[in-house]
Amino acid sequence: MEDGRVAHSHADVYSGQPPKLARVVLYGNSVLRDVAEPVVLVDPETFKIVDLMSKVVVRMSALGIAAPQLGIRKRIIVINKLTELVPVINPRVVSLSEDEYMVEEGCLSFPGASGKVYRAKSVQVEGLDMDMNPVLHEFTGVLANVAQHEIDHLDGILFIDHLELAARGLAIRKFHKAVRKLQFNPLGYSVNIDGVSIPTLKAA
Ligand SMILES: [Zn+2]
Repeated sequence: MEDGRVAHSHADVYSGQPPKLARVVLYGNSVLRDVAEPVVLVDPETFKIVDLMSKVVVRMSALGIAAPQLGIRKRIIVINKLTELVPVINPRVVSLSEDEYMVEEGCLSFPGASGKVYRAKSVQVEGLDMDMNPVLHEFTGVLANVAQHEIDHLDGILFIDHLELAARGLAIRKFHKAVRKLQFNPLGYSVNIDGVSIPTLKAA
């Protein structure tokens, strides 16, 4: 911490109070179609982003999140393995199994919508952990879908892009209906993360 570049714990990333609200962007916001930038240095700012992402995932009982969903164009994902949260910096798919697995996928940026997406049943993902050490993760089953879904977000790809035209149209209609019903601002919605405690982040 002496050079101020690397924070080693989540407890000390905020100099003041941690934020009470996080904003999730909705489908239609152009940030979800942008290609996110690689993280050059895992610095205190990165810890803050991962902290926010982790709290949103826990609060929303989601299985994963990608930084662009908070309006942040950085290549960061957090996978919720339920027993632990796994952040991966600059994640990259290095191998996909040939056999596929179908999951009814939803997305924090698409409230009210879902669709059946076929993806590789297991996936190996390399990237960096919070200490900037290279890591190789293997995700299978639902979590393989989640990992592929979140990495897609970093390239501006959304789960609806994997659906047939009719299913895509249905998902988009359901999303618009939900947004109207919930009276969400079209640009995004706030998630109360005040007091959310997150499980220890897995380093590797
Ligand atoms: Zn998503």
